[in-house]
Amino acid sequence: MHIERLAVDESVGRAMPPRRFIDALSDLGVPVELVGEGETFGPGDAVASFDHRDTFLDADWVHCIRAGYDEFPVGVYEEAGTYFTNSTGVHGTTVGETATAYMLTLARRLHAYRDAQHDHAWDLPRYEEPFTVAGERVCIVGLGTLGCGVADRAAALGMDVVGVRRSGDPVRNVAAVYTPDQLHEAIGDARFVVLATPLNDETEGMVAEPEFETMRDDAYLVNVARGPVVDESALVSALDAGDIAGAALDVFETEPLPDASPLWDFEDVLVTPHVSAATSAYHEDIAALVRENLKKLAVGDDLTNRVV
Ligand code: NAD
Repeated sequence: MHIERLAVDESVGRAMPPRRFIDALSDLGVPVELVGEGETFGPGDAVASFDHRDTFLDADWVHCIRAGYDEFPVGVYEEAGTYFTNSTGVHGTTVGETATAYMLTLARRLHAYRDAQHDHAWDLPRYEEPFTVAGERVCIVGLGTLGCGVADRAAALGMDVVGVRRSGDPVRNVAAVYTPDQLHEAIGDARFVVLATPLNDETEGMVAEPEFETMRDDAYLVNVARGPVVDESALVSALDAGDIAGAALDVFETEPLPDASPLWDFEDVLVTPHVSAATSAYHEDIAALVRENLKKLAVGDDLTNRVV
C-alpha cells in the first residue's frame, strides 16, 4: 500500500495540540495536513483521528489515537477494506501512575486534606481512616497495557497484586491470575479493584450490584477503563449503602459527568475528567506509532495494533 498523505483530523485536539502532533511527524516523508469536517478522502490517504467520521471509510488506513475504539464502527471499516489501527501500548506508564496515585490518595487521605485546605481547615482524620497500600490486595481486571502498568507500580509499593485475564495465563508482578468466570473470587478479598478492560459486549455492566455485594465493605473501585463497564446507578447505591468504601473514577456512562450526578459529592469518591492517560508527551507517543506503521505499510509488514 502506498500512502501519499497523512490527514490529521482536528478531533485529535481533544487529546493533544494538533500542531505539536503534526510537527512531531515532520520527518514522515509524506505531507501531513490538518483536516476537519467536509474533507474528502481517497486511495493513498491515511488518517489519524480521535473520533470517527463516515468519510474516513474512503481512505486506505485510519489510525485511532486512543486505545479504546468502542466508538468506531470497526465492522464497517472491515467491509470497506479500510485498515484500522488503535493506540494501545502507550498508556501503561501514564494510566499506571494515575491509578497508583488514586490508591495512594485514598489510603493516605490526601483528598480529604485538600478538601479541607479549601476552607483553610486543619482537619485531622479519624484514627481508623489512614492506611498504607503496602500489604493491601489490589485486583486488576484486564491485564493488558494498562493493567500491567498498574501491576508493576502496585507491586513496587509492596501491594499484594492479583488480577483477571481472559486466558488466565501468568503475568509479571501478578501473584494470582483468575479468568473472567472467577471474577467474584478474584475481587472478594481485594481492598482495591482496578478496572482496565476494553468496553465490549462481555465487559459492559461487568461490575454491578452482585459485584458490589461481593466486594469488601472497605474496598475501593478504580475505573480507568470505560464508564459503561460499571453499572453507575448500582455504584451509587453501593456507595450510599456502605457496601464499598469509595471509588476513583476517570470514566463515566455520560461524559462530561452531568452536574446532577451524585458521584460528585461523595467524600471518598475521586472524580477525574477522563484524563488518566494525559501527558504533555502524547503527541510524541502517538507520532512514534504512526511513523512505525507507515514504514510497515510501505514494505507490506503487518501493522502494529491492527484491529481490522
Ligand atoms: P489492551 O488491549 O492492552 O488490554 C486490555 C486487556 O483486557 C486485554 O489483555 C484483554 O484480553 C483484557 N480483557 C478483555 N476482556 C476482558 C475481561 N472480560 N476480563 C478480563 N480481561 C479482559 O488495552 P489497554 O491499552 O490496556 O486499554 C484497555 C482499555 O482501557 C481501552 O480499551 C480503553 O477503553 C481504556 N483506556 C482508558 C484510558 C483513559 O484515559 N481512562 C486510556 C487508555 C485506555
